[in-house]
Amino acid sequence: MGRKTANVIASVIYEKPAMAVDTHVFRVAARIGLTVNAKTPLAAEKQLTKYLPEAVIHKAHHWLILHGRYICIARKPKCEMCGITGICKYFKKTHAASV
Ligand code: SF4
Repeated sequence: MGRKTANVIASVIYEKPAMAVDTHVFRVAARIGLTVNAKTPLAAEKQLTKYLPEAVIHKAHHWLILHGRYICIARKPKCEMCGITGICKYFKKTHAASV
């Protein structure tokens, strides 16, 4: 069993503070700035589990996946309808002149 699958089981079934990092979580976390210069899923996982409150880690995987699927879409993020523009690194960078 791979690490990602093991973390999904740990977080979903047992609600352990484990973070499964797939390509979507990896991309969205980096874009928002929740991870910095993480080169691998394991590096991203370590950063996310270090800085997110332990009580929410088992849910955060789903938050990031759903956010990436419906709002922070890979090709064209829907920043105009996003609720976390105030903390988003990408938003600050791309909207610097208008904020
Ligand atoms: S502000 Fe834009 S880039 Fe940042 S998380 Fe929201 S949708 Fe994604």
